[in-house]
Amino acid sequence: MPEIVPGIHQLRVPIPDNPLGFLNSYLVRGRDGWLMVDTGWNEEASFQSLKDQLGGLGIGFGDITRIIVTHIHADHYGLAGRIKEHSPANLLMHEAERPFIQSRYVNYEGLMARMGVIFHRHGVPDSELPRLQGASLPVLGFVEPTWPEILLKGGETISTGFFDLQVIWTPGHSSGHVCLYETKARILFSGDHILPVITPNISYHAESTANPLGDYVRALHRIESLPVDLVLPAHEQVFTGLKERIKAILDHHASRKQAILDTIRDEPRTAYDISGRIPWETMGVPWEKLSAFTKRAAVTETLAHLLDMEEEGMVRTVQANTVARWERVSAR
Ligand SMILES: [Zn+2]
Ligand SMILES: [Zn+2]
Repeated sequence: MPEIVPGIHQLRVPIPDNPLGFLNSYLVRGRDGWLMVDTGWNEEASFQSLKDQLGGLGIGFGDITRIIVTHIHADHYGLAGRIKEHSPANLLMHEAERPFIQSRYVNYEGLMARMGVIFHRHGVPDSELPRLQGASLPVLGFVEPTWPEILLKGGETISTGFFDLQVIWTPGHSSGHVCLYETKARILFSGDHILPVITPNISYHAESTANPLGDYVRALHRIESLPVDLVLPAHEQVFTGLKERIKAILDHHASRKQAILDTIRDEPRTAYDISGRIPWETMGVPWEKLSAFTKRAAVTETLAHLLDMEEEGMVRTVQANTVARWERVSAR
């Protein structure tokens, strides 16, 4: 468990069953206890590993006084409830994330119905609809719902006495995602907003913003001018070269937009149809054989690109009955 700089530790929390393998939790020293950034998900292996790694540092759960989750995806937030049972910690998150606790992890039937409407409108065939609708249900088992004591808006500075963490609201990957910028050490806790290798999933769904990719790109530009020496992401490894990484992510989305445009060169298509025609990094697994979870991610990511392209005036929908098809604006 490396000490990144004196007073900031990285904990590698295993998240079994997830292709990412690990969640990076960070511990920040404070005058009145430790502040934890992201937790791992609620599974015994994750909890025990976290406990062992803390023990190796001579820290117990009782020494954690604040937990900030960058967003409420299960791998970041799932263990927060259990840690709070063993500690005096207050939980902090962006105010836009709070409602999702109820709608995703407590009463999720309404959300599933709303996703069904979106999938139908965007061309998911009836035969596939239930499978895609229920594809995110397995994460429920990895979360112990707990509510935040303190809500963040972005712009505030959280001081531990040793470190000052500026909260930067970075919607896109999730509506209330936040990054934390430590001004003196010039360290950025980037959550899932920026990872060194994988491009974060940006999806349009029932609880995303109206144009999540547009928001995401604006949020990338919001942090690209920060003087950052080191980026501490929530997955993969610590890295330098924030500006170059942002540029690579922007290029990735530009080329995906081009790939989408190519599929509708000759005729309008639904988002589902487009998703099956653009190249994905699926290790050679054909579209028909993709898991429901991967297919769902492909459709919602395609939609995120289409909605951003719609805002840019590149595409628009033509609606027949209840199904929307996308066409190029320049095609006419
Ligand atoms: Zn996430
Ligand atoms: Zn994550």
